Amino acid sequence: MKTTKIEWTEATWNPSIGCSKVSAGCKNCYAEVMAKRLQAMGAAGYEDGFKFKVLADRLIQPLCVKRATKFFVNSMSDLFHEKMPFEFLDEIFEVIEKTPQHQYQILTKREKILADYCQTRKIPKNVWLGVTVENVNVKHRINTLRNTDAQIKFLSIEPLLSGMGKLDLQNIHWVIVGGESGVGARPMNKQWALDIQKQCAEQDVAFFFKQWGTWGEDGIKRSKKENGKRINGKIYQEMPVP
Ligand code: SF4
Repeated sequence: MKTTKIEWTEATWNPSIGCSKVSAGCKNCYAEVMAKRLQAMGAAGYEDGFKFKVLADRLIQPLCVKRATKFFVNSMSDLFHEKMPFEFLDEIFEVIEKTPQHQYQILTKREKILADYCQTRKIPKNVWLGVTVENVNVKHRINTLRNTDAQIKFLSIEPLLSGMGKLDLQNIHWVIVGGESGVGARPMNKQWALDIQKQCAEQDVAFFFKQWGTWGEDGIKRSKKENGKRINGKIYQEMPVP
């Protein structure tokens, strides 16, 4: 369990690690790069690099934290990975229910498995449930999320890889948008981001613009820090109210 540089959360909790690619947003997966780096450093748990595995000894970690904390669950994996046993998911959700002082942000690209899991289970009240919608081809993930009973539902549109067209944000509470960083980063068009911001404002949904990444607002490649996090000079860091 770690504190994190991710702006919209406070700590990460990874009861499983490793993953496999499912859609265009996975191309330059940050978790894969990190896992390989940790493997090279001999870090515990990463002996098999980015291969999926559950780490049962990490289940107790949030139980040991008294201070109310916002956890991003599985920054190094996808909680609804094909190899994740539903029995282990049940154990994770039991820990979540036992720690109502915390908020848990769970994000997946595997909406079908999420839907299967939710068919027979209730999502605890302290879960923020999200799907990644990196381009127009995976917009159907939003409908699956909408039909869950999570109290806070959010979209991570990161890396934003195409215009999204019309977005139905009914029953969605938060939208995060960001550009890609690192070697091979794909550019984000400013108008794509503005279109999403406008639709969030029209539909009364909190909008959080994380960063431009490697390609700036003006379409020029620079460091992520130099490109910053403003659109037309404005910072958008709205959060949903739990
Ligand atoms: S789902 Fe997430 S963690 Fe898994 S490969 Fe894709 S980007 Fe990486």
